[in-house]
Amino acid sequence: MDPPARTVYRNRCSICRQEGHNRTRCPHDAATAASLRDAFNTERRAQERQRIRHLQERQATLNSAAPNPEWRAAMYAQVTEMQERLATLTRDYAGQSPFVAPRSGPTVREVKIQEILFDHCQEIPEGLYKELMDALVIRD
Ligand SMILES: [Zn+2]
Repeated sequence: MDPPARTVYRNRCSICRQEGHNRTRCPHDAATAASLRDAFNTERRAQERQRIRHLQERQATLNSAAPNPEWRAAMYAQVTEMQERLATLTRDYAGQSPFVAPRSGPTVREVKIQEILFDHCQEIPEGLYKELMDALVIRD
């Protein structure tokens, strides 16, 4: 939707603000002219508010379409924390469980999958990302 165009105020009577005549030909008495002028000013203010609201909505749409730096920083911090958690889980599991043979770390295939997930983490729902990362550290 286009913003409402700015109203052009030409050819209006300066007393009553109606179109089609000028102040020397104004047909209204002072009281009528004043109330017509008030109504016109009220409508003009409403149009101006609507125009500003439209601009604000468009700005809000632009803001939500382009993630801001804070959002990216939060996402990066989250991914970093996940990687540390993954590293800790892998190390602890390999070192502490008496039921599995200790392993030196994730396999080449697992590391490759982790890298792919990491590279595309912003395209994957958060819950799914965590599930996949957790699944990569399961040992049987
Ligand atoms: Zn007039």
